[in-house]
Amino acid sequence: MPFVVMITGIPGVGKSTITRLALKKTRAKFRLVNFGDLMFEEAVKAGLVKHRDEMRKLDHKIQKELQMKVAKRVVEMAKTEPILIDTHATIRTPVGYLLGFPREVIEIINPNFIVIIEAAPSEILGRRLRDLKRDRDVETEEQIERHQDLNRAAAVSYAMHSNALIKIIENHEDKGLEEAVHELVKVLDLAVGEYD
Ligand code: AMP
Ligand code: MG
Repeated sequence: MPFVVMITGIPGVGKSTITRLALKKTRAKFRLVNFGDLMFEEAVKAGLVKHRDEMRKLDHKIQKELQMKVAKRVVEMAKTEPILIDTHATIRTPVGYLLGFPREVIEIINPNFIVIIEAAPSEILGRRLRDLKRDRDVETEEQIERHQDLNRAAAVSYAMHSNALIKIIENHEDKGLEEAVHELVKVLDLAVGEYD
């Protein structure tokens, strides 16, 4: 049976760090797929963008076509190995929030778990200020809080259209990281034996 885990969390929450550490510790052999990387690949192939931060500014129907293309690639991969998808529950676009997984897309992927990494808005803001590589929109703590609320709501809608369970993991500054990694490893370890 395919085993797919989606890991979500707003930019600056520590998603990539937790994912990297959890993949080192889990007994399951996951293939890590960055949904944005694959969408970017498809978008460049179609001549739509030159930089990944331009993608969220594309027309939402075009973004959905890219999501569908990538979803189909991911289910193919999931036939042979467990897949961990690094992605976003919602994407903040210039004209409103875009669902990372509209109904047709989540139905194709049918994940086992939707993991949401969360942190306090002040912690997220601090991490974003330290990461100046990306062309990130500047958000207030209140906007960050709203975005995290919306991501929970989006996750519920994804669970409605798949067999997914929702797992919320908190990543706090002091001792939080180790605990967060441990929580994710527990989810990933469930894939052991699924492909035997
Ligand atoms: P990241 O580097 O993981 O922050 O993702 C980069 C970009 O990929 C995001 O800003 C989005 O434009 C795009 N992206 C990632 N996942 C999705 C998704 N599920 N639906 C639409 N766009 C996505
Ligand atoms: Mg990332």
